[in-house]
Amino acid sequence: LFVEHPLAQGQSVPVTKDQAHYLFGVMRKGVGDDLLLFDGQNGEWRASIAQASKRGGVLEIVEQTRPQQNPPDLWLLFAPIKKARTDFIVEKAAEMGAARICPVQTDFTNSERIRQDRLQAHAVEAAEQCGGTFVPEVAALAKLDKLLSDWPEDRQLMFCDESLAGAAKTLGKASGDKWAILIGPEGGFSESERTRLHALPFAHAVSLGPRILRADTAAVAAMTVWQQAIGD
Ligand code: SAM
Repeated sequence: LFVEHPLAQGQSVPVTKDQAHYLFGVMRKGVGDDLLLFDGQNGEWRASIAQASKRGGVLEIVEQTRPQQNPPDLWLLFAPIKKARTDFIVEKAAEMGAARICPVQTDFTNSERIRQDRLQAHAVEAAEQCGGTFVPEVAALAKLDKLLSDWPEDRQLMFCDESLAGAAKTLGKASGDKWAILIGPEGGFSESERTRLHALPFAHAVSLGPRILRADTAAVAAMTVWQQAIGD
């Protein structure tokens, strides 16, 4: 279970109303039962339920069961699409170990609004589901143009270019430990975006195979290609 409270030996952790509903209602846990907690920064801890009610409760930290394990420093930049598909991208990026998830507005982005808090909640659920100790941050929607202008010089960019569909799926001899993957919207990248991206010294244009993939499929395929080439 993810908690926003920083975890350490001897701590008491308050249970929120939503967590109480899940723990004591859905999961049928009660006083004296154990559960595993993580806060995204301090590893995994075993806790014992000290108080339980419909509206809240208290968990007492017993011991650390695993140290913190962070994923590689990989950002996933994607142009938001329909709600359910955007949710899917965030969930899969969190499961596959993205460190930061960045919705970007491109020339042909379909959806110009996102609910950052909802997407962050999906990232938390995905981290809980796959037993991780880390939760990727979902950033606010940002313009691709501005992100590229302010780009940190030590971060490489794997730019998935649908116009290369059919070329080999490779990152070549690229290396480095700070990366970002960029996936375009349903309409793809505009010609001016593509020209700019191809000219950037930190960008590596990559094909994801001979077929044009939907953006949500492309996000998963791109993370797999990156993991094969660089690390997991
Ligand atoms: N409307 C575009 C077209 O028909 O050319 C397709 C855009 S595709 C649905 C959405 C995004 O997924 C693309 O901008 C690209 O980032 C990525 N993508 C999909 N298939 C790809 C491929 N075979 N190679 C590289 N990137 C791909």
